[in-house]
Amino acid sequence: MIIIDCPLCGPRDHAEFSYIGDATKVRPAENGSSTDDTWYDFVYLRDNPKGLHQELWQHSYGCRCFIKVLRNTVTHEIIATGLPKDNLIQKTGDLTYSV
Ligand SMILES: [Zn+2]
Repeated sequence: MIIIDCPLCGPRDHAEFSYIGDATKVRPAENGSSTDDTWYDFVYLRDNPKGLHQELWQHSYGCRCFIKVLRNTVTHEIIATGLPKDNLIQKTGDLTYSV
């Protein structure tokens, strides 16, 4: 069982959450300065990292808020959680993982 610590509700079973996607993607500017390749990358391309990954989850069966989760994709260990604006890598300090 994976426990995700919702910053608003506290620790809950992961079955209450929905995986949304990679939280590191940044939406391109909509002022016409972004190229088609930039948009293609934003919409379709995803990395499949081995190790630490910042993910966006929604507490679907709880407060329904979006949260950010720092998870080890190999062990599924939840390292940290926070609000979408949080940089969890920075929040955890100089955290280095080898897998
Ligand atoms: Zn919640």
